Amino acid sequence: MSEKTGIEKLIQPYLVSLGSYSAHTSPDTLKGKVEVPVESIIKLDANENPYGCSPRVSRALADCSSFSVYPDNGQTELRNLLAGYTGVDAGYIVASGGSNQLIDLIIRLFVGPGDEVINCVPTFDMFRLSTEMGNGKLVEVPRDEYFAVNVSAVKAAISRRTKLIILANPNSPTGNLTPRQDILEIVATGLPVLIDEAYYEFGGETVVPLISQYQNLMVLRTFSKWAGLAGLRVGYGLFPLKIADYLLKIKLPYNVNVAALIAVQESLKDIDYLMDRVKVIVTERERLFAELKKLKWLQPFPSQANFILCAVLNGEASELQQKLQAKGILVRYFDKPLLRNYIRISVGKPEHTDALIKTLRGIEEEING
Ligand SMILES: *Cc1c(COP(=O)(O)O)cnc(C)c1O
Repeated sequence: MSEKTGIEKLIQPYLVSLGSYSAHTSPDTLKGKVEVPVESIIKLDANENPYGCSPRVSRALADCSSFSVYPDNGQTELRNLLAGYTGVDAGYIVASGGSNQLIDLIIRLFVGPGDEVINCVPTFDMFRLSTEMGNGKLVEVPRDEYFAVNVSAVKAAISRRTKLIILANPNSPTGNLTPRQDILEIVATGLPVLIDEAYYEFGGETVVPLISQYQNLMVLRTFSKWAGLAGLRVGYGLFPLKIADYLLKIKLPYNVNVAALIAVQESLKDIDYLMDRVKVIVTERERLFAELKKLKWLQPFPSQANFILCAVLNGEASELQQKLQAKGILVRYFDKPLLRNYIRISVGKPEHTDALIKTLRGIEEEING
């Protein structure tokens, strides 16, 4: 590490060495760098909903006249609405400005300096980032070659300092589900277990109905993906009653804004419309999978979410991502020890799949001459 001088010397040492979260490229920053106008960029890099949010949300926000008033700090109405949606009593529920905020709060609640968090990698990078921001120690347990969780390795990794076990289900960026019995075996350790169900609506598997039966099971959900509200930042979690009370105590005041509350109200009124869109995305996911499989140089992995991870068998994933970006199609690539040479493609509209596959075939011809 290079010598720090001036005010940097005063920064907490564990934060100086923090590796940052690699966020997605904003299309605005690509102006002039891609072969298409910014408006025509096809964004398949952040698992956003290609159909946007419910039109009821846009209308209600345009009509709202109470943006000058603070929201209810106790989230009473929001928690009641979420109780209706999840079938779990409001006392178990805490909402947040995006579910990422709750990951951070849960780590603050359980993890002190040097305490250990078990993470089943490769997975969502926020688990690492929040652990490191809390000065906790990340204990990484690798998944197997099909990205299944190795339950006995998770149990073997537990030490006296383990304070939290985190599991995304379906996992990102791999898309696979962990069977309920494996989750319950991990919950049976008695340690706090956090299941991140950000993609629940695309797969239908959940442990939410079990919330009231355990002292140590916590589940995160979000409106970012299925309800198309990523830009408004609204998520929630389901917790043992005591944990929910502590989280409400340590959250920042007014952590869910007025616009987000309105967005949830309107989304839940328009649930049939939104779930129809989810069904269309799931159907498109299966078509995209079949199309990717036809390309012999990509190996797609089955997904229960709204994206597909592909191993790049011929050429570099980073180059492929750059070539697609130049043509106006954004995807994510991964090139790290447990995810060497992969791309992740979010499921878009049928015309996005068509454009992607056509572009991939063009790139294939370029490579083969
Ligand atoms: C997208 C995603 C989230 C969503 O985070 P928000 O803060 O609610 O937008 C959470 N967990 C995982 C694994 C994700 O991929």
